[in-house]
Amino acid sequence: MRKVSLVALALTLGLVSCVQPSQSPDPSLTPVIVVHSNDIHGRAWPFLREDGKWVGGYAAQAELISKIRKEAENKKAAFLLLSAGDVNTGVPESDFSEAQPDFESLKAIGYDAMVVGNHDFDHGFELLLKQLSWVKFPFLAANLKLKSTQKPLFPADTMINRQGIQFGVLGITTDQLPKLILTEHAKKLVVEDAIEAASRTAKRLTTSGGEILIALSHLGISQSGLSIHRNIPNDDKKLARQIPELDLIVGGHSHTFIKEGVREGNTLIVQAGYRGDFLGRVDLLWDRLNKRIISSKAQLIEVDPADGEDSEIKKLVLPYKEKYEKELAIPVFEAKKVILGQRNQTQSLELPLGNLICDALRKETQTDIAFFNSGGLRSSLPAGIVQRRHILEAFPFRNLVSTGILKGRYVVELLNDGLREGDYAGGVLQVSGLSYEIKDGRVSSVKVGDQELNTNKDYSFSTNSYVSSGGDRLKAILKARSVRNGPGTVDEIFTRYVSNLKIVEAKIEGRINLKDPLNP
Ligand SMILES: [Zn+2]
Repeated sequence: MRKVSLVALALTLGLVSCVQPSQSPDPSLTPVIVVHSNDIHGRAWPFLREDGKWVGGYAAQAELISKIRKEAENKKAAFLLLSAGDVNTGVPESDFSEAQPDFESLKAIGYDAMVVGNHDFDHGFELLLKQLSWVKFPFLAANLKLKSTQKPLFPADTMINRQGIQFGVLGITTDQLPKLILTEHAKKLVVEDAIEAASRTAKRLTTSGGEILIALSHLGISQSGLSIHRNIPNDDKKLARQIPELDLIVGGHSHTFIKEGVREGNTLIVQAGYRGDFLGRVDLLWDRLNKRIISSKAQLIEVDPADGEDSEIKKLVLPYKEKYEKELAIPVFEAKKVILGQRNQTQSLELPLGNLICDALRKETQTDIAFFNSGGLRSSLPAGIVQRRHILEAFPFRNLVSTGILKGRYVVELLNDGLREGDYAGGVLQVSGLSYEIKDGRVSSVKVGDQELNTNKDYSFSTNSYVSSGGDRLKAILKARSVRNGPGTVDEIFTRYVSNLKIVEAKIEGRINLKDPLNP
């Protein structure tokens, strides 16, 4: 009987669909479209990608999303728009404006929810609360509490009803957070194990009627090779394995381009790279009667300003850019060729930009040695005239320069901390005044100049204040003496050094020698 009535209903609808051809032919099936972005890092305006194409920006994103929204309306699809975090930090105009153009765009485009990422804490949770007041959607984090009150900083989840479907959306941020943000910010937070917090939240969402369960995750996905995200203890794949009731994980943090999503059990994991030159789109088909997803498909769509930009959003973001145009266009020095600062561009632990910043710190502070965390380098510098804007994009954190004294044996310990037993995360130290060799994931020899390092000797060092506070699990640095922060920020010291050189060439010159064959 049930079957017959279904057929009858489908027939009726078939007739209706002569008038509305885009309507789903089977009334028991509801299409769902989830659009997602992550790790846009201040790219509120189109930017010139390494391949020479102008891409991204919120105006182009808005235009693309409004087309998808229309499509969803036409076929009565449930539509959701989600951000997997790290909206903050990376482009000077955005950083100078506390990412106001970014958050106002997210609000105008109509985002439904966002999970907070580690870089959203670069200026402390206080700024994040201010940014929350600029939008109309919730910031989520199931595993964060404020230490002073022992209360959650943000809600763990939100229930969103679209086309009669209950979407349970939970937010989970990286539990590596204390190691990724400044100690002064980290000490105000309590960070719980991501899997435990997500698991508890997923159960609650199920019992309170959630039908499609989505984790909005800033955990990242572990990657092979020389990625700085080689081995994330709690990553999206583990999240999927431990919480099989999750239908979809919308991820971020590891900056991974997952073209068509990856599947772990019945969970679909998606992520759209970084910088916002791509948007992710997931299409699901929901069977209302049997309450299950019967098909799913994921794709990445390029955000191309040539396909149109939303004029309202363009009007909104442009003044923020124009305000700083002049001061950011100041030429600083000339680079003979591109100065690479990203591992995925060099396939090497040693980075030309790493060498250059360490030389700058060492020379300008007149210390024996210098080191800088690889994760602190955020982009490469172009060939030709390098402007102030490029330097601020490469060093957006504005950390202070930091100097001190460290005994030789702790220098070795520190270099090892950076390697994390062959995990080669963002803490791998770029160096100046010394060179080191790595075997089996450990430091096997260290030279200062052309001499073997003396484990009992004191060495004066320079670095950035993130490293000297023990960031990136660089614990041995806490044994340093006479530590002093400032005067001057890293980008200021760098600017002084390269302006004096005028013409600069930076290359890989054998300061970090990886002897292990790298097994991906
Ligand atoms: Zn992140």
